[in-house]
Order: sequence, then structure tokens, then C-alpha cells
Amino acid sequence: MKSLSRSLLNGQITKHNSGLGPRLAALLLLLPCMPALADWLGDARPMMGTEVSVYLWSDDPDRGRQALEEVFAEAERINRLAAERPVVAGEELFRLIQRSLDISVLTHGAFDITYDSVGQHYDFRGRQRPDEDTIEAEKKNIDFRYVELDQATSTVKFLKDGVRINLGGIAKGYVVERGATILRGLGIEHAIVTAGGDSRLLGDRRGRPWMVGIRDPREDGQVAISVPLTEEAISTSGDYERFFDEEGVRYHHIIKPSTGEPAGGVHSATVFGPDAVFTDALSTSVFVLGVEKGLTLIATLPDYESIVIDSEGSVYYSDGLQKPTEASAEQAQK
Ligand code: ADP
Ligand code: MG
Repeated sequence: MKSLSRSLLNGQITKHNSGLGPRLAALLLLLPCMPALADWLGDARPMMGTEVSVYLWSDDPDRGRQALEEVFAEAERINRLAAERPVVAGEELFRLIQRSLDISVLTHGAFDITYDSVGQHYDFRGRQRPDEDTIEAEKKNIDFRYVELDQATSTVKFLKDGVRINLGGIAKGYVVERGATILRGLGIEHAIVTAGGDSRLLGDRRGRPWMVGIRDPREDGQVAISVPLTEEAISTSGDYERFFDEEGVRYHHIIKPSTGEPAGGVHSATVFGPDAVFTDALSTSVFVLGVEKGLTLIATLPDYESIVIDSEGSVYYSDGLQKPTEASAEQAQK
């Protein structure tokens, strides 16, 4: 049963350019009342085709900086791991593929790491997309049931030629979850680890919740909704992360496995809850499923909530959330 009703704020926060990466800058802006203490440390680096940032409180600045480096090193390691095309997978990769397949079952195939047989034909920077024949042919290779895992030998087998997997829909969640685990192990109690649209929060912001902004999907630098969170993970999948527009159509990186084409109807899907691996995969899933089916899925998961912005710009909330009131919107604008 979902008993907790959480309040949200309508946010209108303009991003300023500060030499930090855009997301870290946005995060810092969400913490306007924080005094400039040396004990808050942060860094942001381009990694995994996006930006990874770590922001933490440490009583000892040297140990804090060491902790930052350990998280970035872990992100590098996981990035290499996720790029492997294994026959015999190490235990960690094997488990990540296993989790991906479990989530495919849960989402009835909306999340499917074999999307890549079509996905590989996109080059968003080069504005390249597969033609209809390619989509038609490669779509036949999309089905998570073609991936067979043998626990005893840690072997990954594809049951059909042409099947490929790509862990891009779950790897960033894994990075931030691992990052948070490392920081916790080093005695850090207050931190945010972010990779692209995925964040894992450790503890609170020293006495208050972290305020995490959900981007306005069409107004760069604007926050549509602020979510107060403590000790939680939050992931947003958006059609503005990797895309190009062509003749009024947005071609983006979230592929609907059943059609082999970018999923329509949604601008962004946010999911939050206790585990970043799960929120990452679920945000992609809710994006693919659309508002109705997506929120129906979330309603079956007691610890998870979701906020979806559809292609009309309308905002939809899962059952356990209290919608922002006009009063909170005014408050947020102050
Ligand atoms: P972001 O990478 O912006 O955080 P997501 O978490 O939604 O966004 O992940 C999108 C990535 O997931 C894509 O770049 C691609 O690598 C992968 N992907 C795309 N479609 C699917 C799908 N249907 N199932 C699983 N992974 C997908
Ligand atoms: Mg995701």
C-alpha cells in the first residue's frame, strides 16, 4: 500500500552559466540557501556520452576529494563493462543483464536491451536514422527472449543471428547506485551522484531534503517541477537528451521495441524510488509505455512514483504524489 503522499513544487529556476557542467550548475542552483562552505565538494566530468557529477559533504576535504575520484573511477570502469559484448560474462555484467531481462518481463517488453539491433543505426550527431526497410528487417531481432543466460557457466547466448544488446538504458542507474555505495562505505552521509538523467541521493542536504528539478522538456534551463527527496534515486528519460529534428519529427534515443521507432506521445518520464538501477530502467519503460500504461505499471510498485510530461506538455502524476498547488507555484517563483 502506498501511504505516503508527497508534495511537489512547481519550479521556475533559470540556469546561469557557471564554468561547471550544466547539470551540476543546475543542482547547485537548486541549493540557493547553502553557504559557500569548503566542506561541500563537487565535480562534473563528461563521461558515458553524458555528464557524470558528484556533489558531497565531507568533514575532511582531502578525504572528500579522494571519495570524488573513487566515484569517477567506478563510472569509468562500469562504462567499459557496459560496452563489452560478452560470451562469458563476469558476475557483475551477468547480473546486470539478468536484471535487464527481469525488467523486460515486468514491463512486457517496453524495456528491452535488444532494442539495439535498430538502435545501432541511429547517429544523432550525424543526423542519421535507419530507413523503413532497415527498421523492418532489424525489428525482427528485438526480443529479450532471444537472450539466454546460463547461471552455471555465466554464459550469455543469443538465440538468433543479428541480436545485439546495449545496456545504455540501465548503465547510468548502475553507475550512480555504485557511486552512492562507495561514498557510503567511505563514511559520506550527504551526497548526490548524477549521470545524465539519473541521480542517487545519499541522505539529505544536512537537515533538509534535496530539491531535485525535473527539466522542462522544451525550455532549456527551466525546471518544470521540483521534487523534495531524501535517500532516494530519481531518473528522467527525455526526448531532448539525444535527438535530431527532421521535417517537424523528433528522432530520439528511446526506441519502442514493438515498432522499432522512437517512442511517441511523451516528452519526459521521471521515476523515483529506492534503487537507481530500477528507476533508470523504469523511466525508459514509462516513456515507452506512455502516460496511461506507464502510470498503471508504477501503481503496482509500492516504493516507486512517477511524473510524466506528455507531448502536449500536460503533467501526469502517479497515485502517491500530491500535485503542486498554486500556492506552491508562487512560493517557487519567489
Ligand atoms: P538517458 O540515457 O537520457 O538517461 P534513458 O535512461 O531513458 O535516458 O536511457 C535511454 C537509453 O536506453 C538509450 O540511449 C539507449 O541506449 C537505451 N534504450 C533505448 N530504448 C530502449 C528500450 N526500449 N529498452 C532498453 N533500453 C533502451
Ligand atoms: Mg532511464
